[in-house]
Amino acid sequence: MPAPQTFLSELIALFGQPVAENPTQYMHEQAFASLGLQWRYITMEVPAEKLADAVLGLRAMNFAGANCTIPHKVAVIPHLDSLTETAQKIGAVNTLVRQKDGSLLGENTDGKGFIQAVTEAGMDLRGVRATIFGAGGAARAISVELALAGASSIMLVNRTYEKGERLAAQITNVTGVKTTACAWDENCAIPAGTQLVVNATSIALAPNIKDLVPIDYGTITPDMLVCDVIPNPPDTPFLQRARAQGARTLDGLGMLVYQGAIAFQLWTGHDAPTDVMRAALEEVFAEA
Ligand code: NDP
Repeated sequence: MPAPQTFLSELIALFGQPVAENPTQYMHEQAFASLGLQWRYITMEVPAEKLADAVLGLRAMNFAGANCTIPHKVAVIPHLDSLTETAQKIGAVNTLVRQKDGSLLGENTDGKGFIQAVTEAGMDLRGVRATIFGAGGAARAISVELALAGASSIMLVNRTYEKGERLAAQITNVTGVKTTACAWDENCAIPAGTQLVVNATSIALAPNIKDLVPIDYGTITPDMLVCDVIPNPPDTPFLQRARAQGARTLDGLGMLVYQGAIAFQLWTGHDAPTDVMRAALEEVFAEA
């Protein structure tokens, strides 16, 4: 890159705790560099009790935006000026965007990133029947976006049944799409007629990469698309077992790239170089 004519860069922050191993900074900085943008993305360890100060700091230093990860995705909302309609429905935010008037808008790109990856895999989501494992932040964002994309029914299966039941009622309430909760027993079966299956739990998240989502794999059929949210390593035991049943599979790397790409476009106004972003993540994960 040529020497800059100004030493003021546009800044993006990542707030989280723990956050040191989050690969997003490298992904975005590679993307900025590939487009010749003088932007910086800075990873910051922010404890829960310092979040309000951190957002004030963003405003004072005129950051163009931020990402929020655990534990801030819900807690950040009262510190923002406005939310997109989907962030309101999801009730959590992973992306902050400075508006022209300096105010901060909250958006959630996690579920949108998932939808983009699934759509790219060739699935038409209108009328789809989905089964989702998990009822945390990822399951919440994916369920809302699936409902908004036209899914006809969603079943949530969660280890802590009451949490799944609460989330199912909320999703039905905010989207109007029938969402039910199911207890996760030892031999959890995927209902016949399911077209989309998603592991949105943290099972197989590094370092527990050999952990298997405990379900009845005999109920996975070749007409299902089976997805995992775990991006590293992307080919989880869950996906391997689903492929052995003849199902098509989709890993969590695409979701991670696209949630970042949507945020990148909101911050910079440029289409994100998704190939560069994917290559950056693969590089980080290969070295890890
Ligand atoms: P949360 O902590 O909000 O939720 C975790 C979920 O996993 C809960 O439903 C929890 O169940 C369930 N769970 C955890 N361990 C087990 C287990 N051993 N058996 C059964 N269920 C289990 O996390 P998030 O929803 O924010 O994140 C979930 C995963 O999604 C993480 O691995 C994260 O890295 C990934 N993710 C990936 C993204 C991507 O772009 N690819 C984006 C966002 C997240 P319970 O309620 O019973 O505790």
